[in-house]
Amino acid sequence: MDQDAVRDLLREVHDPDLDDDIVTLNLVNGIEFDDDDTVHVSLALGAPYSPTETAIADKVRQVLGEAGLDVELSARIDDDIEAEEQVFPNVENVIAVASGKGGVGKSTVAVNLAAGLADMGASVGLFDADIYGPNVPRMVDADEPPQATEDETLVPPEQYGMKLMSMAFLVGEDDPVIWRGPMVHKVLTQLWEDVEWGHLDYMVIDLPPGTGDTQLTLLQTVPVTGAVIVTTPQDVALDDARKGLEMFGKHDTPVLGIAENMAGFKCPDCGGTHDIFGSGGGERFADVHDMPLLGSIPIDPAVRTGGDSGEPIVLEEDNETGAAFRHIAREAANNAGIVRRRRQS
Ligand code: ADP
Repeated sequence: MDQDAVRDLLREVHDPDLDDDIVTLNLVNGIEFDDDDTVHVSLALGAPYSPTETAIADKVRQVLGEAGLDVELSARIDDDIEAEEQVFPNVENVIAVASGKGGVGKSTVAVNLAAGLADMGASVGLFDADIYGPNVPRMVDADEPPQATEDETLVPPEQYGMKLMSMAFLVGEDDPVIWRGPMVHKVLTQLWEDVEWGHLDYMVIDLPPGTGDTQLTLLQTVPVTGAVIVTTPQDVALDDARKGLEMFGKHDTPVLGIAENMAGFKCPDCGGTHDIFGSGGGERFADVHDMPLLGSIPIDPAVRTGGDSGEPIVLEEDNETGAAFRHIAREAANNAGIVRRRRQS
């Protein structure tokens, strides 16, 4: 068996999103045999632990295994960005979590998305860039501040398998910071450059609400893989979410999808779900703007208790709301993979 024969076999592996075989799509970086007759295949896959890419890799193993080959897989996509231009050279995917206005559950989604990805097995960083109201450390019960090293870099504390950084560690959650644009830019860039993140599969960034200086700094300096937009089902919230969409559109940043929060009230007494803010708003919005709805989360008192006590609800196995967040984490990872494979092919 030679490289061409292996390549032919790989034509049997189909990418369900880009709808073609992985060879035609240019998703096979290389095929090499070593002395022990093991074939090393490097695939251009970009979203580690995403269900779709895991299935593609499994299929590759299966097809080559059935042909009697020992297989070793690796996955890598080299984006077209010069190494020295990269803000996060060791971060595979940057996911920005945004909302049009405050109070819709953006931080809650960011925390549960990050914890959900970590729970899938990924290495994850959670960067709380909400400099005006940083509350991520409280939500994940992290009271250890980052440690400073001798070369004046910061080692982020870890919680639930996520590396954390937040302005709250530096100024305290209850001290409002009034900064103008240039200061915001300076503090943010310093915060992400001076932190020892190490290699990360995903960096989740919790943005402040709206379309201000932080968003501008981020979109101008960080290669964001895609944004997740959090909204509630009401029309006013959706109007604000639309502005967020326009902002990402202007910077050519893909939107991975919409997370609809507070869609109905899950009543702990009767077990039923009551629509409070109307229903189907997130789905219609996603349809009209031709983007995926990642999922809907009900109002569930357990989300807030989880947020207050520190354990993200996504980690609760037998919990429907936790399952809704797990679904969102998987979809977001799948869609990040689509963005990256599409660029490669
Ligand atoms: P934002 O970041 O958009 O300002 P937060 O994530 O801080 O919003 O959420 C605001 C409040 O609402 C928090 O107390 C949070 O625990 C609560 N919350 C968010 N989503 C839900 C939900 N689905 N069910 C119940 N409470 C929620």
